[in-house]
Amino acid sequence: MQQNLLDLDAHALTAYFTEMGEKPFRARQLMRWIYREGESDFAAMTDIAASLRDKLAQSACISAPSVMREELSDDGTRKWLLDMGTGNAVEAVYIPEATRGTLCISSQAGCALDCSFCSTGKQGFNRNLSVAEIIGQLWWANRQIGRNAEGNWPISNVVMMGMGEPLLNFDNTVSALRLMLDDLAYGLSRRRVTVSTSGIVPAMDRLREECPVALAVSLHAPNDRLRDQLVPINQKYPLRELMAACQRYLERAPRDFITFEYVMLDGVNDTVQHAHELVRLVADTPCKFNLIPFNPFPQSPYKRSRPDAIQRFRDVLMQADIVTTTRKTRGDDIAAACGQLAGQVQDKTKRTASRTISFHK
Ligand code: SAH
Ligand code: SF4
Repeated sequence: MQQNLLDLDAHALTAYFTEMGEKPFRARQLMRWIYREGESDFAAMTDIAASLRDKLAQSACISAPSVMREELSDDGTRKWLLDMGTGNAVEAVYIPEATRGTLCISSQAGCALDCSFCSTGKQGFNRNLSVAEIIGQLWWANRQIGRNAEGNWPISNVVMMGMGEPLLNFDNTVSALRLMLDDLAYGLSRRRVTVSTSGIVPAMDRLREECPVALAVSLHAPNDRLRDQLVPINQKYPLRELMAACQRYLERAPRDFITFEYVMLDGVNDTVQHAHELVRLVADTPCKFNLIPFNPFPQSPYKRSRPDAIQRFRDVLMQADIVTTTRKTRGDDIAAACGQLAGQVQDKTKRTASRTISFHK
C-alpha cells in the first residue's frame, strides 16, 4: 500500500526518508512542496532528483479526504462534506473575516460522548480520523480557496470544533497540530490554533505538555448536577477537576485565558441564577465566554434560549468583568453549525440562501 505523506509529521517524515536510505533533509523539501506549495504531484517537485520522484510516485501519495459536496453561503462561508468511507462523512467549514480566515475542522467521525444537545453525539462514535484526514481538511481547503492577494494561504486560524472530541483522538490530533504549527508546513502561531474539548482532564494535561495550543472548554453548566446531564463525561471528570486542569493548562497556554463555550438552552441552563453560579465557578480562572445559541436538530429535546435571556445572562458575566461574546445564530454564521454537521447539510441548504455544488472527485 502507498504511504500517504499527509499522515506523517516532520519527525515521521524524516524517519520515512531515513528508512528509504535517503537524507533527512528530503523531509524538509517534501514538506515545503506539500504544504507551502500545496503540491500533490511528485513530478512537479523539480528540485528533487528524478529517480527519487519516480520512487515516491511508486511508494507514496499525497491524498486528502475526497469532497462529496461543497456549499457556499452568501456571506462567503464555505462548507465541505468530506467522505470518510463506509457511509461516514464529516464537515469542514471556512469562515472568512476582514482580518483572518478560520477553518473549523473535525477530528472523529461521530463522537462517543453523547452530550444531550449535540447531533454528532446522537450519531454515536464511528472512528478516529487519521492524521491525513485531519490535516487534509486544511490542505484541501487552502488549495480550494486559493492564495490571497498577498500570495498567502487564506486560512490563518484553525479551530477543532467540528465533529468529534479531539482529545479522544489524541495522537493523530497532536501530529496534525504539529503540522499546523511547523514552519516548514503552515507555520501558524499557537494562539491561532484552538482545540475545543468537552473536558478530558488527563488529555488536557498531556496537551499542555506536548502541544499547548489555545484551549476552548465546553462548559455548558455551572454545577455538576446539571453538567452530568448535559455533558455525561462530567460524571468521570467533574467540575472541580476540570477547573483545576484549566488552571494547570494556563501555565503553558499561548493565551492568558481559557475560552469557555456555553450552549444556551431555553429554561435549562440560561437563567440569571445560572449566570451568577457560573461567575462563582470561574472566579479564579482567567477566561472568556462564548455563548452559543442552541442549534436545534430533529428529535432534540431542547429549544434555543430567547434573545432577552441570552442578553441578561451575558450582562451578569460582563458585570463580573468576564469578556463574553455571543455567537451569531446559524444561517448567519457558519461557525454555529460546528457540532451539528454532516446529516444536516441538506436542511441548512434549504433554509439558507446558499448554493450547493455537486462535486466530482
Ligand atoms: N467535542 C468537542 C469539540 C466539538 S463540538 C467539544 O465538545 O468541545 C464544538 C462546540 O459545539 C462545543 O462547544 C459543543 O458543545 C457545541 N455544540 C454541539 N452541539 C451543539 C448544538 N446543537 N448547538 C450549539 N452548539 C453545539
Ligand atoms: Fe462529542 Fe463535543 Fe458533541 Fe459532546 S459536544 S457529543 S464531546 S462532539
